[in-house]
Amino acid sequence: MKAEIIAVGTELLLGQITNTNARFISGRLAEAGIDVYYHTVVGDNPERLSQSIKLAQQRADILIFSGGLGPTKDDLTKQTIAHELGCELVSNEEAMKTIEEYFDHVGKVMTENNKQQALVLKGSTVLPNRNGMAPGIAIGKADKQYILLPGPPHEMEPMFEHEAIPYLLGVYGKQDIISSKVLKLQGIGESELEVRLQSLLEKQTNPTIAPLASPGMVKLRITAKAKTEEEAQKLISPVEQEIRAIVGEFIYGVDDDTLASKTTELLLQNDWSISAAESLTSGMFMAELGSQPGIGNALKGGVVVYNKEMKIEQLGILSSLLDFHGVVSSECAEAMAESIKERCSTTIGISLTGAAGPEPHDGQPPGTVWIGIAIEGMKTASYKLQLSGSRNTNRMRSVQFALHYLIQMMREKKELKY
Ligand code: ATP
Repeated sequence: MKAEIIAVGTELLLGQITNTNARFISGRLAEAGIDVYYHTVVGDNPERLSQSIKLAQQRADILIFSGGLGPTKDDLTKQTIAHELGCELVSNEEAMKTIEEYFDHVGKVMTENNKQQALVLKGSTVLPNRNGMAPGIAIGKADKQYILLPGPPHEMEPMFEHEAIPYLLGVYGKQDIISSKVLKLQGIGESELEVRLQSLLEKQTNPTIAPLASPGMVKLRITAKAKTEEEAQKLISPVEQEIRAIVGEFIYGVDDDTLASKTTELLLQNDWSISAAESLTSGMFMAELGSQPGIGNALKGGVVVYNKEMKIEQLGILSSLLDFHGVVSSECAEAMAESIKERCSTTIGISLTGAAGPEPHDGQPPGTVWIGIAIEGMKTASYKLQLSGSRNTNRMRSVQFALHYLIQMMREKKELKY
């Protein structure tokens, strides 16, 4: 089977966004044993989209579209495909219900053009959208399969994974199912990970192990082909154990886990409270934790103390300590963490101070960051980072590392290993 991915959107052609959808879809198709020979990018223009469809029909069995399913005038994917296939567009009841419920929930009046999102090709399979309003569509016509997906990656990715791939495997009567488990690692680089896992990576067949790097984090995807889900899990499990035996200390979660969700889980399970004192991240740490449902039972609050005076006034840090060691120091980070913990009466106090860049700060080179962690009943600890990204990348990484060290210390408190 050969597939072609057609990403629709003028923003892509203008270089305003990167075609990450094609990368994601290609990766998942490769694992499903479906070849991709072409990626096409076309603007929001019905004539050129029609030409792209005709061309793809000559060279692929499966045409996968992303983007242009929304309610605005330039969202023309569905209409153009319907025209090319000679298909009618009909309103889908389930999809309309989702849209109406959304507008009810936010208390807004639904405009007429939003109804367009509930239109699907007559006779198609509707792919539910777990994270948005526009449903996906799958339809077979004259030996070809057409899959229409929404543009936003957080809508497209789960739809492709949970709806489109099973649909395609169903259509082509695949005997085997493909199942994956993603291990998420922090605190180890991709190259070091590959070296440590070299012998495992060399002998991999089924399951396969693929390291995937994303900013500030590395993932390992273990993918097995088997007749049933249960058999696939049986193949994945021993490989996962082998990986954990080698790099278990860096694995903080699996699949949809994030550092923030794991941190929240540990805080809530143990009934621990937390507060933060932030300098270079100016509230980003608290915002990251604040995004987690239920965190209100653990996160009490904190302060942003950007300059030296505020560190003294708000946290009572001794000016002699700051004069002697500087604000970018282990001593300052630990004093900030201990102070915020005391002032907020929490189990845990955490602090971030550093030189975000691009200039040095307080005599420290850009990218030097100290994270302080004070936990009831434990010795206060501090961790130094030497980051090399841009200012904002350094600030984001600092938050991720802070969560990583926090998880490690919380696990230590619980005497749990990763
Ligand atoms: P919406 O309902 O949000 O309009 P849509 O299905 O009509 O969704 P588009 O309007 O084409 O999709 O794109 C919406 C957003 O999705 C874009 O602004 C962009 O952020 C993202 N997006 C679209 N196509 C891609 C792509 N190929 N790769 C990565 N992101 C994309």
